[in-house]
Order: sequence, then C-alpha cells, then structure tokens
Amino acid sequence: MELFDTCQESGHEQVVFCHNGDVGLRAIIAIHNTTLGPALGGTRMWPYDTEEEALRDVLRLSRGMTYKASVSGLNLGGGKAVIIGDPREDKSEALFRAFGRFIDTLNGRYITAEDVGIDVNDMEFIFQETENVVGVHQAHGGSGDPSPYTAHGSIQGMKAALQKVFGDEDLSHRSFAVQGTGHVGLHLVRQLRKEGAKVFACDIMEDYLAAAVELGAEAVGTDEIYDLDVDVFAPSALGAVINEETLPRLKCKIVAGPANNQLANDEAGNELERLGILYAPDYAVNAGGLMNVSIEFEGWNHERALRMTRTIYYNVTQIFKIAERDGIPTWQAADRMAEERMATLGKLKLPFMGKPHRFPGRNKH
Ligand code: NAD
Repeated sequence: MELFDTCQESGHEQVVFCHNGDVGLRAIIAIHNTTLGPALGGTRMWPYDTEEEALRDVLRLSRGMTYKASVSGLNLGGGKAVIIGDPREDKSEALFRAFGRFIDTLNGRYITAEDVGIDVNDMEFIFQETENVVGVHQAHGGSGDPSPYTAHGSIQGMKAALQKVFGDEDLSHRSFAVQGTGHVGLHLVRQLRKEGAKVFACDIMEDYLAAAVELGAEAVGTDEIYDLDVDVFAPSALGAVINEETLPRLKCKIVAGPANNQLANDEAGNELERLGILYAPDYAVNAGGLMNVSIEFEGWNHERALRMTRTIYYNVTQIFKIAERDGIPTWQAADRMAEERMATLGKLKLPFMGKPHRFPGRNKH
C-alpha cells in the first residue's frame, strides 16, 4: 500500500505507528479528521494476519468515526486505534501503559475508548498514563457501559423512521424483528416491549435469546428473521446483513437498528430505496454510545446522556429531508449531511486541536 496516496484519497490527517518491543506493543493510531474537534474512537485489539490488514482496518474505522460524529452534531473528529495481538493471550499491564503513553504524546488530538477485544481493566491501565480516554468506569466519574444509551438512541432513530413512513411514531401498534439480543439488542427489546411493541427476536446464543423471551419477545430462527412481515427490521448483531441474498426476502417497511455497517455495499442501500424500504443509516441511529462517552468531557450524568441521545430523532429526520431534497438514497444523504457540516464549520477554525507547547528557557529574541 502506498500510504500517502491512500491518505490523500481517504482524507486522513495523521497515522501514528507505536512500537515498544520490550512489552510487545505494535499499534497504529489513525486520525482521520479533526475539523470539528479532537479525534475520538475506540481501540481495537485483534490478531491481524498482516500489518497491512491492521492498517486498512484502522483507516476504514477512523473515517467512519468522523462521519458518525459529524452527522450526530458532536464537536468531535474521527479517529481509531488498533493493537496487533490476541486479546486472550497478549495483554499485559505494561502493554496498555506503553500504549497510553503514546496516546498522551498526541496531546489530546486523539481520545481513545473501548472497542472489540478491549475491556474496562485494559482501559484502567491506559487511563493511568493519559487523560485522553473516555468510557472509563463510573467509579472514576466515567460513563461506563454505553449499550443502554445506544439502544435508547436507536429507538429515537426508529421513531423518526416510523414518523416518515406512517406519519405516526407510536411503537405500541408496530412490529419489530430484532436480530441479535446481546448488549444493545437486549436493551432494545426491553425498551420496545416497555412501549408495547410486538417484538420478534433471534440470537445464536440460546441464553441471550431466552433473556429476550423473558421480556416478552417471540423467539424466531436466525435465518427466519429476514422473512418476517414486520414494520421494522432491526439489525443488532452483525454487519453486512443487507445484501444480495437477504434483500429479496425482506418484507419490512423500515430497516433501522444499532448494528454497525449494515449494508454489504452501497448498492444494497440503493436497492432498499428501489424496494421502497426506508433505511435509517446505521451510524446516525447507533450514535448513542458515542454521545454517551462524549459527555464525559463536561461531566457525565444519566439525564444528560438521555437528553443527548434524543437528538438522534432530529438527526435521522434531517437525513430523510436531505435525501428528499437531493433525490438520493438515505445512506448517501447521511454522508452528505456529515460532509456539509464539516465544510461549513471547517471555515470557523484550523484543524489543529492540541494544546500549545511551551519550551521554558527558549527565546527567539
Ligand atoms: P454483543 O456482542 O453484545 O451482541 C451481539 C449479539 O449478536 C450476540 O448476542 C451474538 O450472539 C449475536 N449474534 C451473532 N451472530 C448472530 C447471528 N448470525 N444471528 C443472530 N444473532 C447473532 O454486541 P453489542 O455491543 O450488543 O453490539 C451489537 C451491534 O451494535 C454491533 O454491530 C456493534 O458494532 C453495534 N454497536 C454497539 C454499540 C454499543 O454501545 N455496544 C454502539 C454502537 C454500535
């Protein structure tokens, strides 16, 4: 890969390779765009087969964070980090503290959080070396588990979509197919049931599904979920579930859920449009988790987090308006909304968001 050409194409500002052989640290931090504020995004630990695979992943994920923050109206840029290693075997205090020191050298341009393969104990080690971390435990004044807020935000996105399709956002006479009842999915089922919705759910893990059934969901098979005649299909597990194979089977009116990267490709988004199924773009719908951690800068509390996630209703409605205004599918309208906000607000300030450096004793005169 020609790295500078790749960055030119993707618009990345900075890519940092972090190495400490003594503690086995090989990590990459990618800062995509800091027009709106410091780059925020989690750290993923994964046993990548090659360095190129790790690099591609961090570049893709960090760009996604820029769009999610922008479309959500946050004063944050997009960034992400990956640590190359097996989370079951290669973790140590020294590794995470070394990584925390690298984050600290970026002086606030990059702020990290949890992602796949990283847990709250690893975050504690990072937090010992740098302030630039969010999603720390509530015992430290942090925001803790984001999944209830992601679910709450997703409900706001669903309501915006219901309003658009039916002119009525009441959940109590609507039906939902929730694919995956893990952290977010189970909270989603709980909130939907609380508002009286009819919920079908599936999961590959029997005990997770049983928990959803206890909340009043009707269990269905993991393949059957695509064929249900429901108002809303809510992907809450895997990516790329809207694809060539599943599209002809869908009978829902709306696709809206918390899973990341639901569309296998852009064409899948176009096909949803052709089929007359309204797609509420995933990164706008599932931004509740990001909103929740972003509040840590001002001092986190539950009410503030809930208030912020309610803005997802407005954001998703705006996306639908842009889609109509420009005659484009909603996935594209979301990208356009994010880019328009960055272009407009980018005129206000320069991208560098770090703190000024001081060099005591030096003087130019
Ligand atoms: P999780 O791992 O807790 O839950 C995922 C669930 O999906 C698990 O219960 C798993 O058994 C199930 N699953 C896996 N394959 C399945 C299949 N083929 N059919 C049905 N179920 C299947 O993860 P999570 O934190 O709940 O996240 C769910 C999705 O939401 C992911 O795409 C994640 O990226 C996205 N997301 C989560 C958050 C958050 O706050 N946790 C924030 C933004 C986006």
